[in-house]
Amino acid sequence: MLKGKNALITGSTSGIGLGVAKALAAQGCGVMMNGFGDPEAIELLRAGLASDQGVTVAYNRADMTRPAEIAALVADTVARLGSLDILVNCAGIQHTAPVEAFPIEKWDAVLAINLSSSFHTIHDALPHMKAKGWGRIINIASVHGLVASVNKAAYVSAKHGLMGLTKVVALETAGLGITCNAICPGWTRTELIEPQIAARAQALGVDLEEGGRNLLSEKQPSKQFVSVEQLGQLAVFLCSETAAQITGVPIPIDGGWTAQ
Ligand code: NAD
Repeated sequence: MLKGKNALITGSTSGIGLGVAKALAAQGCGVMMNGFGDPEAIELLRAGLASDQGVTVAYNRADMTRPAEIAALVADTVARLGSLDILVNCAGIQHTAPVEAFPIEKWDAVLAINLSSSFHTIHDALPHMKAKGWGRIINIASVHGLVASVNKAAYVSAKHGLMGLTKVVALETAGLGITCNAICPGWTRTELIEPQIAARAQALGVDLEEGGRNLLSEKQPSKQFVSVEQLGQLAVFLCSETAAQITGVPIPIDGGWTAQ
């Protein structure tokens, strides 16, 4: 379905971004991976994805806190893959603390990676999409783009801001063959939430599995984690022609979290 298209997926060395990269590659899409991690492990992932799906997969380590590196990442994507048709903004971090105890450098980092980086990637990628008259921008927001939780001031602020950016970009690109939407996952078991599961398990004096079940039971009515495969397939759908008139919206995939 996506043969001839190329995607830049920020934060795709693990978790949700890697799930989206696999799903898009399985549709014939070329992929630019980005994110941190052990270089040898990343190279194994890159080479494995390329040979499994028979598509071009490149990797660029750009730091999403640095606008100049983001600009170079977009240019590198076009240079190495030939185009940039699909942009998935997925890089993200979490830090939890009450507002009055929230470290200022953590606030700055969460805002930079979870919000400002998406402004920079969109700013730099849009001219390429406009030139081709086709594009898909998918911002991996969160249920926390729609509702709040305690101890997540920076994360909730960044994700609500990302929803605003999504709507503005959707309006500015309406009718140009480009859509911009936000996927809003609930709890998805990745490295990002492991510290929260561990903290819950420790507080309750239970093992990690029970800690995870306890977190789910508080917010996610299905009591099941969202899977990265489900998120990958939702991204594929948003890239389809069926989704060409879906733009500027948050799409919760959260086991009922935001229905409450
Ligand atoms: P993850 O930790 O597995 O993935 C985060 C990715 O971002 C990694 O590839 C990491 O290397 C990359 N990254 C972090 N800082 C970076 C930087 N400065 N520059 C470049 N890359 C950087 O976690 P995940 O759960 O897959 O998170 C992906 C996105 O999904 C995040 O935006 C997160 O907010 C969002 N999300 C996650 C959940 C969940 O429950 N896991 C729920 C809702 C939304």
